[in-house]
Formats: sequence, C-alpha cells, structure tokens
Amino acid sequence: MQELIKGNKRFREKKFPELKENVEKLVKDGQKPEVLFIGCSDSRVTPDIMLDVNPGDMFILRNVGNFVPPFKCDEDYHGSAAAIEYAVSVLEVKHIIVCGHSHCGACQSLYTEIPLEKEKVVHVKKWLELGSKAKERTLSLIKDPNDKEKLYRLTEKISVTYQLKNLLTYPDVKRRVDNGSLQIHGWYYKLEDGSIDCYDQETQKFKNLEECINGKWSQKNTKKK
Ligand code: ZN
Repeated sequence: MQELIKGNKRFREKKFPELKENVEKLVKDGQKPEVLFIGCSDSRVTPDIMLDVNPGDMFILRNVGNFVPPFKCDEDYHGSAAAIEYAVSVLEVKHIIVCGHSHCGACQSLYTEIPLEKEKVVHVKKWLELGSKAKERTLSLIKDPNDKEKLYRLTEKISVTYQLKNLLTYPDVKRRVDNGSLQIHGWYYKLEDGSIDCYDQETQKFKNLEECINGKWSQKNTKKK
C-alpha cells in the first residue's frame, strides 16, 4: 500500500500538471471516448500504459479473461453487459476492441478442473464457461494437445474471435455495426515484448497491429461462419 500512496504523490507532482488542462476540459464538457477497450483483469495487462493514451481516450472494461457474456435481458446484475451498453448506446463509441493476451490465466484454467470448494470460486467457475467454445475449437485444430505452449496461445487467440461474436448479440452493437457507425476489433497483446497483433478477417489470422490498422470484424464475416 505504501508504494501506491507514494505512486499517487509522484503522479500528482510529475504527470498530472501535464494532463491538467485536458482533464479540466473533460470535467467541464464530460467524457467522449471513441473507444471501448475490453481487456483482461490480469495485472500485467496495462491498457493506458501499453497504448500510451490520455484520460478521456478510452472507456475500459476489464474482467477475468476479457470475456464478453452474450446479451441476456433479465433482472440479474450484469456488470460487463452494463459497461458495453453504456459505451455503445450512451457514449456512442466508434470502436470496440476486445484484447486478449499471452499467458492468460483464465484461458489456461479452461484446461483445469476447478473444485467447488465451499463456493469460494463459484462465480469464476461459471464465468469461465465463456471460454468453453474457444477450448473446443482449439482442441479440434491442434495436433498435439500436450504441447501446452501452443495449446494456450491458440486458445487465447481463438477466444478473442468468440468474444467478438458475443458482442454482436447486443442489439445496439449489431445495429451500429450493420449501419457502419461502429467497428469491432480483435487484438492480442504479448506480455513478453509489449507488441499487439490484430485479427485480420480476410486471412482469419492475427498479424502485427501496424499491418492491420484497419482490421475490423464485420457482420458479413459473422454470417459467413
Ligand atoms: Zn488474462
């Protein structure tokens, strides 16, 4: 905790003065981010730092595994769905990025039996079901499931494509993707070197972000599958 307290002091003294003017404008006018970034809660994934953005640039949703639960209209508390709806229907973001990452504990956990010990992880167990299609697809593609490195890295990438499909179950996401006012993107962040790959719908492969800058996932692509 001491490190966090010192960190905030350093932030206020060094970084905040540079941001002050921009932040004052954002406070006065309200936020208008163009991007909803959906990333994993993993402490090694750092959206603001890895994309070098400023306050006001990205609305950020983080959860275990960067999963997107399918649209479900009931009386339960749906935190991730609420963030997606707010970004799309109220803030009217122009882009949604679903960003997976290497060495994702959530994707690795798909291959481990989680014991239901005293309901300690009952929500985690249920939540991980959102990765089960990615697991099935990966196992159908991979030659040697004992090659854990390949198994996990492929699962992490395939999971991103399933989360993009789930995004399109949200009526307002689908409507806005169809009318061209919203683009959705699948990214993959590599912890090892800080680089990002982007899902290219033409080749159905991930390529370097700079080569794939306009890469987006469209409704046409979903219908084809
Ligand atoms: Zn993760």
